[in-house]
Amino acid sequence: MPAIAVIGAQWGDEAKGKIVHHLSRGARMCVRFNGGANAGHTVEDRLGTARLHLVPSGALHPGCLGVLGHGVVLDPWALQEELAALWAQGRPEPALLLSERAHLVLPHHRAREGEAAGRLGTTRRGIGPAYEDRAARRGLRLADLADPLSVRDHLARMGTESVGEVAEDLARFYAQFSDRIGDARSAIAAALAARETVVFEGAQGTLLDLDLGTYPYVTSSATTVHGIGWGTGVRVALDRVVGVTKAYTTRVGEGPFPTEETGEVGAWLRERGREYGATTGRPRRCGWLDLVALRYAHAVNGFTELALTKLDVLAGLDEVKVCVAYRIGGHRTDRFPARAEELAAAEPEYVALPAWEGPLRDVRDWGGLPREAQRFVRWIEEGVGVPVSLVGTGPGEGAVIDRGRG
Ligand code: GDP
Repeated sequence: MPAIAVIGAQWGDEAKGKIVHHLSRGARMCVRFNGGANAGHTVEDRLGTARLHLVPSGALHPGCLGVLGHGVVLDPWALQEELAALWAQGRPEPALLLSERAHLVLPHHRAREGEAAGRLGTTRRGIGPAYEDRAARRGLRLADLADPLSVRDHLARMGTESVGEVAEDLARFYAQFSDRIGDARSAIAAALAARETVVFEGAQGTLLDLDLGTYPYVTSSATTVHGIGWGTGVRVALDRVVGVTKAYTTRVGEGPFPTEETGEVGAWLRERGREYGATTGRPRRCGWLDLVALRYAHAVNGFTELALTKLDVLAGLDEVKVCVAYRIGGHRTDRFPARAEELAAAEPEYVALPAWEGPLRDVRDWGGLPREAQRFVRWIEEGVGVPVSLVGTGPGEGAVIDRGRG
């Protein structure tokens, strides 16, 4: 199937990396369209654990070109570090095409990310300030690196501490990467016109979208399916829109989280699910699956299917709960509120389902899942109105039940 979008359906960290990697087998391209090195996509394969921040997850497959669209903000130092880490794992260098229109994340952006960073749960990688400069029309783009003098001027104007050093680094980066900087938009359009498989890899999740997420506790870019046009300039007729959701919920930083569990259940999910940030190492807040939020994510993105990840983490619990509605101000509702304050006041109404015994780690086919786990998956399909086509049963690349499309 040629055009596939993989979109986080929650607050990010849904294990998109593994799903994108799985769906990119045989693909011509894997495209990032939003965010920057604040993304932390993890792929575990036979060569080890690859932690990807800018390199699209599909580009680990030989023959799959990794494309960074202009909606991505690119930190050249982070990209070089990431490539060096992949090289150290004995991986072939991924083929890349970087949009000439993409904005750079520069040292002054990282320096500017101050007090608000912790509160908003940002990764302090200068992403927000880089997007601010882009909107304020004072950013520096990859194409600008062709003119070293104007790069120096720009750095000085922006109050960079050691202009000479930074300018030299950028010149070296340009010398090394100039053959990979170009017109990403037309390359994507051409691949789609030739009916090649192109996978669009969303970073962060729907509930962190600048406009559609839980503002102001959001990221600075367009994280939903609508970000694909925004961040590539291509009008894509998508064949599949895969919403990735964990079998429970996590969130990083502050912000409303109706189904959060701060006690034993939260600790169970954190430890079993290894819920610590891939980029920052911070513990994630954990809680039950929230169908109100998931239905909202579906309404925004129009998922053709869901990938339900980390089902194995729930194995062994006494019962598994799912939030089916909120109570806000004494009224029952299935609306996902626009105001963070209102969402913070929402009390979840739960349905408890029978749990199952683990481990699920060896399960590769649907029939191998315990009946209660199958029931849980079916129950989510009915509750959201979208088929679950992929189920994650462990961290490794093979630990996926692929039920085929729809
Ligand atoms: P992303 O940013 O959405 O790619 O998510 P992260 O990389 O932060 O989180 C995914 C983590 O969960 C990685 O460490 C994966 O190896 C792991 N993982 C992925 N799928 C599964 C699964 O089905 N079960 C378990 N237990 N771990 C998984």
